[in-house]
Amino acid sequence: MGLIEALRGTRDILPDEVRYWQRVEAIAAAVLTRAAFTEIRTPIFEQTGLFERSIGEATDVVGKEMYTFKDRGDRSVTLRPEGTAGVVRAYIEQGLHAQGSIQRLWYLGPMFRYERPQAGRQRQFHQLGVEILGTAAARADVEAIAVATDILRQLGLQNLTLQLNSIGDKGDRQKYREALVAYLTPYRLELDPDSQDRLARNPLRILDSKDARTQEILKGAPSMLDFLNPEAQVRFERVQSLLTDLAIPYQINPLLVRGLDYYSHTVFEIQSADLGAQATVIGGGRYDHLVAELGGPETPAIGWAMGLERLILLLKQLQPLPPATVDFYVVSRGEFAEAQAMLLSQQLRQQGFTVEMDVSGSAFGKQFKRADRSGAVACLILGDTEAETRTVQVKWMATGEQAAIAQSELSAYLHQQQPALKATQTADKG
Ligand code: ATP
Ligand code: MG
Repeated sequence: MGLIEALRGTRDILPDEVRYWQRVEAIAAAVLTRAAFTEIRTPIFEQTGLFERSIGEATDVVGKEMYTFKDRGDRSVTLRPEGTAGVVRAYIEQGLHAQGSIQRLWYLGPMFRYERPQAGRQRQFHQLGVEILGTAAARADVEAIAVATDILRQLGLQNLTLQLNSIGDKGDRQKYREALVAYLTPYRLELDPDSQDRLARNPLRILDSKDARTQEILKGAPSMLDFLNPEAQVRFERVQSLLTDLAIPYQINPLLVRGLDYYSHTVFEIQSADLGAQATVIGGGRYDHLVAELGGPETPAIGWAMGLERLILLLKQLQPLPPATVDFYVVSRGEFAEAQAMLLSQQLRQQGFTVEMDVSGSAFGKQFKRADRSGAVACLILGDTEAETRTVQVKWMATGEQAAIAQSELSAYLHQQQPALKATQTADKG
């Protein structure tokens, strides 16, 4: 019988890598909490219609990437391909808008898209996202961007660029779309096949084609920025001046349109020079009509989502973490010694030490080998003699020095040695 393997485009995150995830999650939660964002958790699957209506039927995500199936009650269900739609549904359904104030929410979890798997692109991947609902102010756009850059800075990431654009309001986009189609139509047969297809369905998406000839043709295309109405233009300038006030560098990229239909005005991406083809770590933008389109009151909003797999690829390259270690490794043999070892381990854990107890029951020699590999600062040893005399042998791994300590004195003794422990703890857990 063949082995059952993980599905293509999914992967196991093993313990050594989970440490990077925990670091990202802890730092992001701390930065977001300090900025008064609160976490929301919504279901991983929703009615298919939610995504069709919000993301848009003509998008790649809805058109060809969704995991959609019939459940046993014959309902069409979709594994969420992104987080905003579910958050907005909850915002409406749970009456968060009725609370009057502006909602500052964040979420984290798995998303699902049927894509061609490659480095930084999976079928199950994870996003951390932020939404500010209830204000159209340019300040909110910059607040959202600032909290994103804060997270990246706290993680110590560099070589990142913020690409910024405004795609105006619906009317601006309609006029631009017409101008773009008029410009591209004579070149129709020279465009890549995807772009030819998009010319009728979703022409703005042609702007982010990776095809060299299409890119060449686009060089002469009209610019979205020339189609902004005066108000949208002022708004975009306000966003830029606030970013400058905060010393957040940005590049204006008139080709940036983003893949989901619900965006308007500010759109942005944060890209890394260290990621190759899948360079975008964060994508986001303003979505002023989505809440109303999903049946809620008119509620302007802005949000972004960060691809955690790509972020972790960067962290692994730039700041490899040393392997996990423990403070103490406990080795014991014999009925009484083992019982005392368990008790001592528990006491030390309650005091905040990290303690691995050898649970193998094997000979001392094998246990010592594992102690060596554990990276522990000290090995605590209990055999028959120690059990009888109520002592424990403490062996400091770096020097090989060993001392017999009364069990009742152990914690006081270990606390005295704190400086040595602290040094290794901060090096490892930084
Ligand atoms: P791309 O152009 O790379 O397909 P996108 O525009 O589809 O990105 P968004 O929907 O804006 O992506 O999602 C925000 C972020 O989530 C992306 O910038 C990326 O970091 C991450 N992301 C999107 N799709 C995937 C995927 N299939 N695998 C891993 N990360 C992803
Ligand atoms: Mg995509």
